[in-house]
Amino acid sequence: MTAARLNIGISACFLHADPQRQVFNGKTLLYLEESLSHWVMSQGAAAFLIPSPPRRAPLAVEDLLAPLDGLVLPGGVDVAPTNYGETPLHPDWAGDPVRDAYEIALLRACMAQGKPVLGVCRGVQLLNVALGGTLYQDIPTQVTAAHRHRDRDVYEHNFHTIAFEPGAGLARLYPGVRNAKINSVHHQAIKTLGKNLAVEARCVEDGVIEAVRLQGDTYAFGVQWHPEFHDPRDASLLDGAPILQEFLDAAMVARGAKT
Ligand code: MN
Repeated sequence: MTAARLNIGISACFLHADPQRQVFNGKTLLYLEESLSHWVMSQGAAAFLIPSPPRRAPLAVEDLLAPLDGLVLPGGVDVAPTNYGETPLHPDWAGDPVRDAYEIALLRACMAQGKPVLGVCRGVQLLNVALGGTLYQDIPTQVTAAHRHRDRDVYEHNFHTIAFEPGAGLARLYPGVRNAKINSVHHQAIKTLGKNLAVEARCVEDGVIEAVRLQGDTYAFGVQWHPEFHDPRDASLLDGAPILQEFLDAAMVARGAKT
């Protein structure tokens, strides 16, 4: 018997009102990067972009999440340092507090509904900050002898090696694998861990945290790389399919628990 199709929500990226823009001049756009949505749908789940709720409306983020089985927090702009008790060290690193507030509300509502959360890049940072953790605002500035975690010229073709924490969930997901090659498109990283989060992978070159998992009954897991950008024809890269499968399995379990 085929299991009922899972419905997975993806939080939106924001393009705020821009008077220079020709299309939708002065309007806020909510958007989704295509390959993330395709990756989420690659095992048969349906993906949906979750809009921000209007300020005065007879519905809330809880209502938007109600028909969904899980939440993916995608990549994008910096998390605002003001959300983890710091001031921006540079004007370019001020982040987007509007998107942060929208995604933190979604994340909290999703966890309260007992539905799983998967964070990708900015998504893992957002998860960490929502649970009280802090970030490095800029790896090259704040991490001594850091590896190059972002290269604008080659973008997702910038790679490094991660080491799995022995015995943790990620290591169990890839039996026999200790190290893996992944892409790296980030300049922020987790500094101090949020409540009940445990590290599951670090960059081999500099120890930067690359994956964390919430300890406890609610499924929340995040990776600092972009599994959706990995070329499936390149066997040297970590296959992201087991990560997605585990998240979707958790969504199916959560759906079963609800009915
Ligand atoms: Mn990295």
